[in-house]
Amino acid sequence: MRVVVIGAGVVGSAVAAGLTRRGARVTVLEAGTPGAGTTSTSVAWVNANNKTPKEYFDLNHAGVWAHHQLPGDWFFPTGNLECAVTAEHKELLEERVGRLLGLGYPVERVTAGRALALEPDLVPLPPDTEYVFFPCEAYVQPLRLLGRLLGEARDGGATVECGAEVTGIETVGSGVKVTVADGRVFAGDVVVTCAGRWTQRVAALAGATVPMLDPAESGTLTNGFLITTTPVPARLSRVLTTAALNLRPDGGGRVLLQSLPLDGLADPAVPVPGEVPAEMLALLSGVLRATEGAAVERAVVGQRAMPGDGLTVAGFADADRRVYTVATHSGVTLAPLLMREVAGEVFGEESALLGPFRPSRFADGTAGPPLSPARHPGRQ
Ligand SMILES: Cc1cc2nc3c(=O)[nH]c(=O)nc-3n(C[C@H](O)[C@H](O)[C@H](O)COP(=O)(O)OP(=O)(O)OC[C@H]3O[C@@H](n4cnc5c(N)ncnc54)[C@H](O)[C@@H]3O)c2cc1C
Repeated sequence: MRVVVIGAGVVGSAVAAGLTRRGARVTVLEAGTPGAGTTSTSVAWVNANNKTPKEYFDLNHAGVWAHHQLPGDWFFPTGNLECAVTAEHKELLEERVGRLLGLGYPVERVTAGRALALEPDLVPLPPDTEYVFFPCEAYVQPLRLLGRLLGEARDGGATVECGAEVTGIETVGSGVKVTVADGRVFAGDVVVTCAGRWTQRVAALAGATVPMLDPAESGTLTNGFLITTTPVPARLSRVLTTAALNLRPDGGGRVLLQSLPLDGLADPAVPVPGEVPAEMLALLSGVLRATEGAAVERAVVGQRAMPGDGLTVAGFADADRRVYTVATHSGVTLAPLLMREVAGEVFGEESALLGPFRPSRFADGTAGPPLSPARHPGRQ
């Protein structure tokens, strides 16, 4: 089978690898360079921690375990330690822990002593702080994961065309023709769109309706700050989540910072306002010792790939099963699972996990009820 994959983010790279595993002849068409989209601005925390409804939890939970089955030097299975200080955070955490335990998700309530053993540089927090450890969770270096996946695809015979912006998708007879901006045409039996936040536009080229939230209009649901510090002499081994700050190691002693409460200020059209990194660094020194000298190495606004109802989209978008569309938030968590499940579907094996996420739910042109802008600790 000849398959054209559009987009070389972490999702397209995973799908390309999965397809070559099955013997497909794959061409990947990437408008820019691999990983230059949302994949390069991701916390890359592998989790199913705060994912609802149940079908979306199940998908992400399977995604977490798919990572554990694809170990490598990009994958850090060190868990997530969540610390709740405020009454509001404790209440939300309590509700979430109860729900996750009921779903069979590994959750451990831990003492302050155990929390300190896990993260020795944790700043002493008030004595009534609640600590919960999520041992199956992890973080990845997303571009290294992408390199691993795209490398496997290339080893399996895939061709990767960079600077190849797709401008047309046409189903012809039993196949599909994909045109790029410089006029070249690539033929396949199936095209798989993995265009992240550009999915609405790309799917429309094939006549498919996949509403995506527009980062220019949808504020905190799609946009988020990411700050990388300069190297600091602090011990940090895992994802650490609090009400005000999420952090994880970012290689070479750097720490990656995210503050969901500050995301309301994130605007991809303007540079990161100076007060944002300053506030995040102040929050950091309140959580982790030996970070007082940290400065900012990188400050960016990430733009999420968010389908209109917030949930994954995966499935054939046409009756002839020539055009398959994948778009999702939490694409880093889901990539190794999508490698297997999407490739299986392209080869005719229906995935029970992907069944609830078909693009046909948008057939009437609407995206369903609006997403709640409420964001809680535990959600990235
Ligand atoms: C602030 C932030 C924090 C996040 N934290 C997490 C987290 O902790 N855990 C997690 O799992 N996920 C997280 N995510 C989400 C995750 O990073 C994304 O879901 C994932 O990177 C999406 O990958 P993708 O391959 O679908 O999209 P992208 O990486 O954007 O790739 C899409 C590619 O398609 C290409 N393309 C677009 N249009 C065309 C065209 N016409 N022709 C050819 N190519 C085209 C683009 O150039 C791009 O390279 C976060 C995202 C953000 C913004």
